Amino acid sequence: MAAAEKFEGGCDCRFARYRLARTPLFVHCCHCRWCQRETGSAFVVNALIETECVELLDGAPDMVMTPSASGKGQNIARCPHCRVALWSHYAGAGPRFAFVRVGTLDDPDRFPPDIHIFTTSKQPWVILPEGVPVMREYYDREMYWPKESLERHAAVVAKAST
Ligand SMILES: [Zn+2]
Ligand SMILES: [Zn+2]
Repeated sequence: MAAAEKFEGGCDCRFARYRLARTPLFVHCCHCRWCQRETGSAFVVNALIETECVELLDGAPDMVMTPSASGKGQNIARCPHCRVALWSHYAGAGPRFAFVRVGTLDDPDRFPPDIHIFTTSKQPWVILPEGVPVMREYYDREMYWPKESLERHAAVVAKAST
């Protein structure tokens, strides 16, 4: 896929618009109870990407600190008007990585999950597809991410520590 490919998205009221400058590092489908509450649904689909690759086109989001399973909180970027959640930063991955809500992309079909996580609390009617890794809880990035994504991740971490 072309490096120049861009992926736009935004909220319901169209105040907040963003663009992903690259393809995501990896796409999580999380079935934990926290994500179920936050979406009011059965799971969330999050595209992990370098925060610097999330380009704001219009309308600055509000950052809303929200309790998380780790106890350290999750900072969720929401449209200040319609309050749709666009992406978030978890304490674990830190502010340099964004978890973009795939459903807010104009073409969400483009990024299906690369992995299903926290499936111990998966709602029983959700049938997972063959061929996609299924984790009862979290997972080891080194074992599942493509080499290119691991290199991009390492580059961000290296830059932050200089
Ligand atoms: Zn909005
Ligand atoms: Zn979750």
